[in-house]
Amino acid sequence: MRVLVGCLMQESNTFSPIRSDRSSFQNGCLLFGAESLTELVGKGTEVSGFLAVARQEAVQLIPTVTAWASSAGPMVAVDFHWLVDRLVEAAQAAGPVDGCLLALHGAWVSEDQDDADGYVLARLRGIVGRTIPIAATLDLHANVTRRMVASADLLVGYQTYPHVDMLQTGMRAARLLFRTIRGEIRPVLGYRKVPMLVPPEYAQTIDGPMADLQTRARAAEQRPACLAVSLFPVQPWLDVPELGLAVVAVGDGDLAAAQQEASGLATRAWGRRREFVVPLVPPRQAVARALATPTGLVLLVDSADGTSSGAPGDSTALLEALLAAQPARPVFLTVVDPEAARRAATAGPGAQLDLLIGGKLDPQRHRPVAVSGTVQTVASGRFTFTGGIGSGLTADMGQTAVLEIGQIRVVLMEKAVPCYDPALYRSVGLEPGQAHVVVVKSPTNFRWTYRDLARDAIYVDGPGASTPRLESLRYERAPRPLFPLDDWDGELPETEE
Ligand SMILES: [Zn+2]
Repeated sequence: MRVLVGCLMQESNTFSPIRSDRSSFQNGCLLFGAESLTELVGKGTEVSGFLAVARQEAVQLIPTVTAWASSAGPMVAVDFHWLVDRLVEAAQAAGPVDGCLLALHGAWVSEDQDDADGYVLARLRGIVGRTIPIAATLDLHANVTRRMVASADLLVGYQTYPHVDMLQTGMRAARLLFRTIRGEIRPVLGYRKVPMLVPPEYAQTIDGPMADLQTRARAAEQRPACLAVSLFPVQPWLDVPELGLAVVAVGDGDLAAAQQEASGLATRAWGRRREFVVPLVPPRQAVARALATPTGLVLLVDSADGTSSGAPGDSTALLEALLAAQPARPVFLTVVDPEAARRAATAGPGAQLDLLIGGKLDPQRHRPVAVSGTVQTVASGRFTFTGGIGSGLTADMGQTAVLEIGQIRVVLMEKAVPCYDPALYRSVGLEPGQAHVVVVKSPTNFRWTYRDLARDAIYVDGPGASTPRLESLRYERAPRPLFPLDDWDGELPETEE
């Protein structure tokens, strides 16, 4: 059995002013040929899961591309097609295969493709033909489209948020695909779209409504006709025509039964739409509350500037509030600012600097802040993720320096990376466990990576391209009505799917 494998993963944010390009993937992960698989053996990614099951079942995997980039705005068209063409050429060169396994995000957008993942699946379908099964894994934040469903035989999503099951998702997809190739199952996709969005802060699956919906999805999978049920609450910062929550149920030969499972869970999600409300605290009040905590680490969650949600990471809203509050114990935060990071790194440890930091990448939403500080540390800018997407992979912040302003430590970085992992601070010599307050620019994944460190987390109502206050963003192309941009009573509307 020969199975083609590829991975093209990026989460887009169409409200971000920063375009993605080839360098976004070069800064993340961009591997071709044999290396695109061997580098991922034993790691925590979907491709690592494909590899593990293929080894158990003696399946030959044909490598193509493994590409992963940190979240940002839509990808420049010419670079998007350059990358997709690498996969396509490798697929054509592979000759006949028995099946295809793709690791996708599902919320990828290029300048010319609102549904970049659907485009990738359709291109691959065009090469292998109708009869060769294609399986794809998707992030729980995928925006599943009709083209994705029409182009794939199997779509399998993460079940957890914080994301801790990338490896397991890869393994589940690989097992289902190999069973399909052996003729043991006949997958069909039930699909139901729901006109609602969920702020990622409350799409978490540890407790609350999403945990309950996931439990029901697991129960559905116990029924014989149902091979996998995935709930996709969507990454909401996408102004695209097919935006909305989706449920995909993989049935075994019985499309009507699969459709019924998808509709059942979709109806439940719709019924609970008003429960996904994020309690937000304005920056100054959030800082005051955090600093008043007597002991232990408090996280200030600046998810509105979430680099893993595609925001530039250069918000200074919390920095301003912290400078005004003059904390008495250590406070850590990050600011993406290529110019300030390079200046501080060049000046070196001990240098006293007057800098204007942040607010340059997204000047519509953020403003630069004048600070005087001392360069404490200059670092390589590299660290390895201990959890979340890219677990086991290395992040590259480029030139990186820690600026000391009283008790405030600002990590100035040249390039944006996901900011949910304490490994980021540790890589520049800062131990979050010894801080009073740490800023995380992430909606949820920090709940896993900081689980043994933090005693409390406060969600901050700051400005940013990934604000959970969705009604403050200008959606122009998304379908309407769409909850919570619009609120109305009634049953889940009938759709054409
Ligand atoms: Zn996600």
